[in-house]
Amino acid sequence: MSNKLFEQWTAGDRRKIAFVISGPSGAGKSAVINRVLTEIPDLAYSVSYTTRPCRENEQEGIDYFYISRKEFQRLLAQGDILEHVEYMDALYGTSKSHINRLFAQGVDVILNIDVTGANTLRTNDTLDFPLVYIFLTSPSLDTLRSRLKQRGTEDKEIIERRLAEAMREMEMIHLFDYLLINDSLEQTVAETKAIIIAERRRIRTWRT
Ligand code: 5GP
Repeated sequence: MSNKLFEQWTAGDRRKIAFVISGPSGAGKSAVINRVLTEIPDLAYSVSYTTRPCRENEQEGIDYFYISRKEFQRLLAQGDILEHVEYMDALYGTSKSHINRLFAQGVDVILNIDVTGANTLRTNDTLDFPLVYIFLTSPSLDTLRSRLKQRGTEDKEIIERRLAEAMREMEMIHLFDYLLINDSLEQTVAETKAIIIAERRRIRTWRT
């Protein structure tokens, strides 16, 4: 009797997955992602390019690749940016080469991008890896406002602009695979981990 069928499904390496986490600014995407990255093995963060300045608590190459508008345009023309948006007067874009490097290392990746960017990826049928779309939001607009205020990194006008943007983003929830309501960080981290673990076992990811 041949062992081929077993080998095909058990020895064969599964395709690596991109987990896309989107949702309003202030909903807690970064906090959830940071925890999940320390608790789930073989998962790495997709570091985006941005033209916005580095915040005090951030690091080059860890939170973002901070680049000029000119450099951003050059990478865009080169085809290294899978999707990009202009958000709050800055450009943000997903690095194709960075994600490919991570996949080559044998890990899944987790992206923290806005809803427009997630939608651009969703409608791009040339991507040759599985993507899972997770929408993360806070329980209410008031919670979002107080979380943005607590963060203390933005002034009042920017907070109001981010809230208006959040309302537009909430209208796109139906385009996502999963919805997480971040009431408690512990619970949301547990649910995100559950999604990742289940998606890694999905049959379609085992086909090369
Ligand atoms: P922040 O300036 O607070 O780090 O990020 C602002 C927003 O930009 C967040 O909603 C974040 O998810 C989004 N963002 C960060 N990187 C990217 C990216 O590469 N592409 C897109 N579309 N959005 C991004």
